Amino acid sequence: MTEETEVCKDCFGTGTKVDPVKGAVACPCLRVNRARRLIVAARIPRRYEKCSFANFISEPATSQENALLQAHKLAREYPAVDRGLIFMGPAGIGKTHLAVSIIRDLTEKGFASIFCEFGSLLKQIQDSYNPVSKSSELKVLAPVFQADVLVLDELGATVPTDWVRDTMYQIINRRYNDNRLTIFTTNYLDKPRSEKEQVLEDRIGTRLRSRLYEMCKMVVMDGEDYRKGFDARRR
Ligand SMILES: [Zn+2]
Repeated sequence: MTEETEVCKDCFGTGTKVDPVKGAVACPCLRVNRARRLIVAARIPRRYEKCSFANFISEPATSQENALLQAHKLAREYPAVDRGLIFMGPAGIGKTHLAVSIIRDLTEKGFASIFCEFGSLLKQIQDSYNPVSKSSELKVLAPVFQADVLVLDELGATVPTDWVRDTMYQIINRRYNDNRLTIFTTNYLDKPRSEKEQVLEDRIGTRLRSRLYEMCKMVVMDGEDYRKGFDARRR
């Protein structure tokens, strides 16, 4: 990457430039560089790295459009918000796209944000118990606890053993107690779409489900809308 090695022509990398009227002022490159560092630190997966509010497609008056408005509102109003969002709905509907878009906007505003796929986070924690591993649980979890804003993608996707439920609860509850914002995506709903289908509570436990009610506003994204829009676009 040439961008990182290029020295700013205004401040020569000092962070201070001379303004003809105001004298020595902070160089805008500081803010740009900080935003660039933050977006790298956010660990957005490659398949989502282009996702932004600008390229989210939604038809008017659908649950997708409502979800976009909610996500945009949160990104605009942060840090003056007291609850995160939980995007609920079937795979491929744009839940993660919106969560990543929020991260993108917030890093541009200078807030440290992190994207975590919940299943791989749990795996990393498990791996850290292995004595051969060079990682430790604390090392894995420190950024998750410290980020201003955390996205936990695919809540409930991991087979819910006691350890999984307990660990999920510890992580999320710590964020709650520290008053830090968390955004979730999940394929599970509170009401099953069919008799056989599990609901979110089956996957994460009653205790965590009720904690989420306090931490987050629910944003349900409806599959029907999406498929209708998709078919219309293909026709
Ligand atoms: Zn500069």
